[in-house]
Amino acid sequence: MTGLYERESRSVSTLAHLRFFPQAVTGGKGSMLRGDDGRDLLDFAASWGAASLGHGHPALADAVNRALTDQAGASYLSTANEPSVLLAEKLLSLVPERAAGRVWFGHSGSDANETVARAVVAATGRPRIISFKGAYHGGTVGSVAISGHPAQGGIEKASGLSLVPYPDSYASGSPEAASKAALAHIEELFATSVSPQDVAAFFIEPIQSDGGMLVPPPGYFREIERLCRKHGILLVCDEVKVGLARTGRLHAFEHSGIEPDIVVFGKGLGGGLPISAVVGPEAIMNHASTFSFQTLHGNPVCASAGLAVLETIERENLVANAAKVGDTMLSTLRALQEKHPLIGHVRGHGLAIGVELVSDREARTPAIEQTALTVYRAFQLGLVIYYVGLNSNVLEFTPPLTMSEDEALRGIAILDQALSDVEAGKVDPQLLERFAGW
Ligand SMILES: *Cc1c(COP(=O)(O)O)cnc(C)c1O
Repeated sequence: MTGLYERESRSVSTLAHLRFFPQAVTGGKGSMLRGDDGRDLLDFAASWGAASLGHGHPALADAVNRALTDQAGASYLSTANEPSVLLAEKLLSLVPERAAGRVWFGHSGSDANETVARAVVAATGRPRIISFKGAYHGGTVGSVAISGHPAQGGIEKASGLSLVPYPDSYASGSPEAASKAALAHIEELFATSVSPQDVAAFFIEPIQSDGGMLVPPPGYFREIERLCRKHGILLVCDEVKVGLARTGRLHAFEHSGIEPDIVVFGKGLGGGLPISAVVGPEAIMNHASTFSFQTLHGNPVCASAGLAVLETIERENLVANAAKVGDTMLSTLRALQEKHPLIGHVRGHGLAIGVELVSDREARTPAIEQTALTVYRAFQLGLVIYYVGLNSNVLEFTPPLTMSEDEALRGIAILDQALSDVEAGKVDPQLLERFAGW
């Protein structure tokens, strides 16, 4: 453990910690982080995708500096400012027409999803919401209330919430089987306990990231969209982690060929600064004023960061970069499957990639301890990755959108070594004692 990490343990609360290894960083550039032990680490996590442009991108630094040099206040609650208007105009131009009404700004995916959950119920008069088991929509009371992630056990769900299974193609044996079972569950729900006329919104993750980087079966979300339209249910797409170029398309929902009514952005939108956005129809987004606000919402500094991120995605062709580098990563990882019995399944789109580790390929038994050990060993060897999944056995890669092919291959070579070391029993399980992960 390094000095900074040690000092942190004596000064900073653990309430927000989700730690996999004792990392302390003092800076970073591009896809690299600098540890306080002098090591350079390749960052395949980008702080859960938030550092979308990598670390210290000059376009982001310039935008933030300019916004602070002539600061148009610190909030949009009681005054309008140009950066938030420009960002709203930009976001409206990027979403499907049915969602392109008005934009609300927040600080995080959590406050954004919480706001949507309250607004759809208030505006439609329908009391119920549907979301997925395994879904992570945030960490505040109101966003946990509509989430289904097992790490959030013990926190109360919304009274009108129904959680339905997310189709898991690997666990179900095939995408077709996964899709069929998941849709049958919803039909059963509507036929028995939930009247679809009572449902205000269906919250989806276009790829269920914290639930295991689950890629939906082809056609599945088209069926969900069809059901939503049929019953007048608003389709809310949570693009917080996998949106804005990460999947090799601007929006992750494009892979499913659907058009959500409401789109939620966060994490990568600010490139490391706290900003989230909800884009949706005027009837919902202008339902009331003083309905959902925090003082620093819509501040010009974070809005300028959001604009800089969107402009940089366009200028540097980061959608195409994510698609290209992601394809290379996916094929390289699939080739590694031949060598490593631990790799059960490789999935994802672009730079949103999951590698599910199993101790028995036939039975698909989750390799829980080996996953935590692989993440720890990769850290020791110079690569930052985390794990996700209902069984904590899916390595997650959400690197900066700016990552080069060379860096991607370098990181996978480190992972290759880490897996070999874990498979050979060379990594001491005692290392994990102080790291609970999730
Ligand atoms: C991280 C995440 C959130 C919550 O965002 P915060 O910035 O942590 O509040 C919501 N939805 C998804 C899909 C996420 O991955």
